[in-house]
Amino acid sequence: MEQTLSIIKPDAVAKGVIGKILDRFESNGLKIAAMKKVQLSRQDAEAFYAVHAARPFFNDLVDFMVSGPVVITVLEGENAILKNRDLMGATNPKEAAPGTIRADFAENIDANAVHGSDSAENAAIEIAFFFSGREIS
Ligand code: ADP
Ligand code: MG
Repeated sequence: MEQTLSIIKPDAVAKGVIGKILDRFESNGLKIAAMKKVQLSRQDAEAFYAVHAARPFFNDLVDFMVSGPVVITVLEGENAILKNRDLMGATNPKEAAPGTIRADFAENIDANAVHGSDSAENAAIEIAFFFSGREIS
């Protein structure tokens, strides 16, 4: 059993597709082990995406992530990290496979609907960033 962190980004929340995206997870064997809707502060977003701090798109990414509320979940299941990445599709929705979340709900590489942890190490770090142990079940 594995856990991963998912964020439904401000574009998808604004579009009213929270339920449709959560259904992708639950319909594909990923259990929602924790969930909250929050407005990230600039400090939250900068810390969460610190690995991208040197990238040219960092400021735009932070601006976007604080532009409206997000829905943060811990997903749990067999191979949850890779399974979630498969369900998400490629970072650029124009390159995302048909039927993936980004192909169906994302507009462009900036507003790309979802975040998902990319490794077991980062999943543990990202889950601990947003949730305490007692919030996960
Ligand atoms: P992913 O979200 O698929 O794991 P990355 O970790 O590489 O992708 O990047 C984090 C986020 O930064 C992406 O989801 C996207 O919103 C943004 N991003 C990545 N690359 C670019 C880019 N070339 N131009 C603009 N935004 C980008
Ligand atoms: Mg990433």
